[in-house]
Amino acid sequence: MKNLLLLSAAFGLMACSAADTASDKTAEGVKAAATDMIKAIDRPLPAPADDLRTESIGNNLYVIFGSGGNVGVSVGDDGVLLIDDKFEKNAEGILAQVKGLTDAPVRYVLNTHYHGDHTGSNAQMAAAGAELVGHVNVRARMGMTFENKTFGRTTKAVDESLWPTTTYDGTTTMEFNGDFVNLLHTPNAHTDGDSLVHFVRANTIHMGDNFFNGLFPYIDVDAGGTVAGMIAAHDKALMLANNETRIIPGHGPMASKADLQAARDMLQTIHERVKARMEAGDSLETILASNILQDYAKYASFIDETNMVRIAYRSISGE
Ligand SMILES: [Zn+2]
Repeated sequence: MKNLLLLSAAFGLMACSAADTASDKTAEGVKAAATDMIKAIDRPLPAPADDLRTESIGNNLYVIFGSGGNVGVSVGDDGVLLIDDKFEKNAEGILAQVKGLTDAPVRYVLNTHYHGDHTGSNAQMAAAGAELVGHVNVRARMGMTFENKTFGRTTKAVDESLWPTTTYDGTTTMEFNGDFVNLLHTPNAHTDGDSLVHFVRANTIHMGDNFFNGLFPYIDVDAGGTVAGMIAAHDKALMLANNETRIIPGHGPMASKADLQAARDMLQTIHERVKARMEAGDSLETILASNILQDYAKYASFIDETNMVRIAYRSISGE
């Protein structure tokens, strides 16, 4: 396994801003560099296939929507970098969508967390030559078998061929395709190993499953996730974002800073409502019977109001 040091050696660990390191440091110089990046790709988008559809979001960045988590794609002179890679069954489809954008190889897959709808194609991507990168806890989780009490099932360790081979902790920066790609760990959020991925120059953030746009979020309490950590992850991204920032959620359509703020406010409200009932001495059953999230019914999907309350209850109680 490679560690942060090797990742840093490959790319240069950088804490400075894009403007600090651009060869022409004037505002015009930075703008020209960004324009060069945009000009580099002029192919039409690949045709949708296998339930997968690619959307251009500017600055040589793309998102592959469809089953599983949203895949971020960076295309340029350095090759292809993917953020997450859906299910195992999607591997060929993802590679076909990428092939429609460029002939360059996939060099990196950044895993935002361990879930199988974000890491399922890891083995195939590694076999195709990609290096798998994730937070240290992503690798650790993929090697663990533990109970998921929210859904009453066992989360099983997966084959080692799926595990990230390069890990980091805290934050790290890669320089890739003319941008600075910051990986920021968000502790105990959707899981215990989530990363936000910030393309500094492109003003784009991939949130992983720290953000479900327009949906109640799943929080994997049994893998170290908490509502408070999810709120903190939203806050971290909100600090990095402005009104032009393109935000890629783990699930759901592309989002703006305002969408992210709305999701954050909903989470805060859910947390406060459940906590107030718990402090008043209500049992989980009593809280569930009270329909306290009725006004958020439109956010229900595979996480419905009942699951959302149970998750918040378990997060707050630690049970
Ligand atoms: Zn997830």
